[in-house]
Amino acid sequence: MTGMQGVTPPAVHRDIALKCRLEPDTELLVNVYRNRQGGDAVARGINSGTYNAYRPSGAYQASAHPHAEGWSVWARYVEGLDLAPLAQTRIVRVPDYGRQVGYEGVRVVEVEISVRCQTCGGPRGEARSEFFVRDGVRRVRDAWTNACGHQDDYAAVLAEVRRGTDEPRRGAITPVDGGQFAQAVDLLAEALAENPWLSAKKAIPLLDGHQQSDAAQAVREFAKSSGSGTNTSAKSAAIYLVHLDTEARAADTSTTTGDEK
Ligand SMILES: [Zn+2]
Repeated sequence: MTGMQGVTPPAVHRDIALKCRLEPDTELLVNVYRNRQGGDAVARGINSGTYNAYRPSGAYQASAHPHAEGWSVWARYVEGLDLAPLAQTRIVRVPDYGRQVGYEGVRVVEVEISVRCQTCGGPRGEARSEFFVRDGVRRVRDAWTNACGHQDDYAAVLAEVRRGTDEPRRGAITPVDGGQFAQAVDLLAEALAENPWLSAKKAIPLLDGHQQSDAAQAVREFAKSSGSGTNTSAKSAAIYLVHLDTEARAADTSTTTGDEK
């Protein structure tokens, strides 16, 4: 994969934005970033119109997904289209030949899988019913063709299901879009993906080291005030930061509704 870089040049964004506009509702690859934080940040910038190329805000929808070499960002043009939000998972019928040594016949299992290609993060193709014959019995399974060109083989799909349909991303920890601590939460989520047992104490220098000193200070105070003291986990600190952003947003909205208080 070429083109993996810290910052995508504006010209590249303009080019992608135009291509998306010519094919509304079709997701196109923006770029591949080293980590989830980078990918999420770019996706947020596209959704909010922070990047000129994707204005007005809301005209494009972007999201970051695991890619073999990092995190890929995919965008689609949605301006004026009444589109349903993109699904995260789908149910498919897949033949399972078993994992034992020796042939034990086949059964068709219904499994829930990600709608994203596991190699590049692009959208998987629409599933279609397909007949196949094994042991003289006609059965039906789902088949799909990915526009990205990566083929899904059934054994790999079953392995994916065994690993869990959860993308190896942040689990329950989702930053508030545009929140003061969104970047800090992304940072913690990334660190927690590496080490789920990370302590809040170790999270503080991590945040400080990434110019997130306000977040570091908030976590410091949180750890001090929380019952678990020095045993406070980075996970609960991240959830606390999400909570702060959620509260701030709620306060924000309540002042703009014009309602009497
Ligand atoms: Zn792919």
